[in-house]
Amino acid sequence: MPIQEIILAYQGEMTLKGLNRGKFEAGLAKSIRHRLEELGPFKVHSAQSTVFIEPREEGLDMDEAFRRVSRVFGIVKISRAACCDKDFAAICDTAEAYLGQSLRSVRTFKVEAKRADKKYPMNSPEICRELGAYLLSRHNHLRVDVHNPQIEIMVEIRDHAAYVHGPKVEAAGGLPVGTSGRALNLLSGGIDSPVAAYCMARRGLALHHIHFASPPYTSLRAKLKVQALACELSEYIGDCVLFVVPYTKPQEYIRDHAPAPLFTVLMRRSMLRIANKVASKTGMEALITGESLAQVASQTMAALACTDAAQSLPVLRPLIGMDKSEIVAISRRIGTFETSIEPYEDCCTIFTPPHPKTKPTLAEIEAAEAKMPGLAELEQTAADEVEKIFIAIGQQPDF
Ligand code: ATP
Ligand code: MG
Repeated sequence: MPIQEIILAYQGEMTLKGLNRGKFEAGLAKSIRHRLEELGPFKVHSAQSTVFIEPREEGLDMDEAFRRVSRVFGIVKISRAACCDKDFAAICDTAEAYLGQSLRSVRTFKVEAKRADKKYPMNSPEICRELGAYLLSRHNHLRVDVHNPQIEIMVEIRDHAAYVHGPKVEAAGGLPVGTSGRALNLLSGGIDSPVAAYCMARRGLALHHIHFASPPYTSLRAKLKVQALACELSEYIGDCVLFVVPYTKPQEYIRDHAPAPLFTVLMRRSMLRIANKVASKTGMEALITGESLAQVASQTMAALACTDAAQSLPVLRPLIGMDKSEIVAISRRIGTFETSIEPYEDCCTIFTPPHPKTKPTLAEIEAAEAKMPGLAELEQTAADEVEKIFIAIGQQPDF
């Protein structure tokens, strides 16, 4: 008979949330249900800082369910467990069938037991001792190490059944998406901005993306690449919208009217003003960028101060204190790196002056903008004509 499995997801930091805990738990259960919808019917419920994810039918894809749940923010550890009859012989058989293979590759183990069913005829130390002895009789290379075992086998006796747990592994951490508010992420095709989105979603922000495209200077392939990145990120952040701004006209206008050394900062201010309009229309409370201090000329303290002054929403920059190598490591781990390094031009890399000013002052920036009377209208039109692309979890990008 095939082993009946469930998935156990252990809540992290949210267990510290006191009175708000209910909100965090509901957010987590919602994220998990949404991730699993496509795979078939699952029951999702929580008790004692653990979420139990049980298939309601036989034959559901538990490997894929496990992979998906391990990417849901709000969970620190995750494991699988085999369900069996509470009869002690059945527990021994299940432990052997489920974990025998793993026990063959280690030398030390330990059994832990937990009883929700207090009427069970054996107490926890007895279960540990008896199951330990049974497993030792089957694997005579093993020895028990209660302090530092290579494998810890957990048996749980609940009212309706018993469970033998597999090993616990690290999961996504953070807080459930949507429990910290909503923000708009400025997504370029580069390495940094997908990592920035990941970092902020991990802190519980629900987010959408905005991308600035300047055809014909930037190509359709460049836009599809950004769409592919948004699809990859949706595994972590859930369904979202990618807003694509037709940015050619404002960008040409700035090129034609700005002092060349100030071009990049003026353009970044313009992008943030448009992002503000889109965010405010859709109730988003902050903007996110992948900027990192001193990485390029537009990311010096002075340039960032000028960029910040362009609009009123908070600008979150989770990568501000990271080295490129750290950002790359996260990008590889979350799976966006390979797409990010595809070589397509971004609007931020066209018309860039040979000598951008690294210490612009707000006074000179505002003086330059005063000489660009037509810009506000072009920005408004770009915001009004934004294209909305819906990104759903599991969607295969056309790239
Ligand atoms: P990335 O690797 O994310 O492209 P970068 O180091 O190349 O970042 P910039 O090109 O200066 O830096 O951009 C800084 C940030 O501005 C990006 O991380 C992103 O948040 C935003 N950004 C840049 N270009 C675009 C774009 N075309 N659309 C939306 N946001 C953009
Ligand atoms: Mg870039």
